[in-house]
Amino acid sequence: MSLNQSVLICDQVDAVLNNILQKNGLHITYEPQITKEDLAKKIGEFDIVIVRSRTRITADLIEKATKCKIIARVGVGLDNIDTNAAKAKNIRVINAVEGAMNAVAELVIGLMLSMAREIPRADREIRNGNWIKKELMGSELAGKYLGIVGLGNIGKRLARLARSLNMNIIGYDVIPIDPEFAKEVGLIKADLETLLQSADYISLHVPLLDSTKHMINAERISKMKKTARIINTSRGGTIDENALYEAIKSGNLGGAALDVFEVEPATGNKLATLPNVICTPHIGAQTKEAQSLAANVIAEKIIQILRGVI
Ligand code: NAD
Repeated sequence: MSLNQSVLICDQVDAVLNNILQKNGLHITYEPQITKEDLAKKIGEFDIVIVRSRTRITADLIEKATKCKIIARVGVGLDNIDTNAAKAKNIRVINAVEGAMNAVAELVIGLMLSMAREIPRADREIRNGNWIKKELMGSELAGKYLGIVGLGNIGKRLARLARSLNMNIIGYDVIPIDPEFAKEVGLIKADLETLLQSADYISLHVPLLDSTKHMINAERISKMKKTARIINTSRGGTIDENALYEAIKSGNLGGAALDVFEVEPATGNKLATLPNVICTPHIGAQTKEAQSLAANVIAEKIIQILRGVI
């Protein structure tokens, strides 16, 4: 494959991606607001199509992408790309797993601290003219048990950060956990049920698969400590939101911090009406550093594929 390839960038991405690809002789068309209709008309002209989260590359678009050899996602999850349809047409699908690792892990720490100290409420009350110091008796993260479900890139990074805050880390994964890493963070390995029963904070870091859809359901929530708090920065579908709502509303669960939802944008989600729930609009990877790193990774991967290195 020569580097003289045409590239369509469909979403807003860090400028470093454009710069690196252009320097290597690729021809870039940057259309961060392209509509599905326009994309359907144009996709057949490009060798490489790059998206972030806004654009969905569906099977009907892939059918029209007759020249396309690579579809790249400047991010981690591939939920917005029909990977089976791409595979059937011999199109390589690439992503940037490394980009979001630290950004998401730091967000989880921020969300845990926000819940433990009620920071969002404290700020809201002051803005409303209320000084509610006596009501804001918080708790500390040090010494608490953090259960991490899914010890991949993000789960591991979170474990390291949480360990530095003196939290105890309980971990569960379906694949074997690297013993060096386990030793480093003093990991307590557990099965899922034990983790859910023992943790003060439970953070999900699994992909959304048939096997992880609603893995946190009413039955599993009923086994958790009544004071436990769940953090979800993975994918919305991993939690049964109705079950979570009922458990928190009835006082059977301490609270939740959610960055991802079953339906996004989640502006009308009833979970956001509960006082013990903190919601953020899928900002896990939304840092300058993560976006720039992901853009760099994707640019380098594209060039390596075109040069036949990977
Ligand atoms: P990863 O592939 O590195 O790790 C996922 C881990 O989950 C793997 O170790 C895998 O074995 C494990 N796993 C799979 N099924 C499991 C199950 N049933 N039980 C327990 N473990 C299971 O992925 P990652 O980069 O760490 O990303 C984790 C999640 O975070 C993904 O869902 C990704 O889409 C999401 N994510 C969200 C944001 C955001 O903006 N909020 C940003 C990046 C990634």
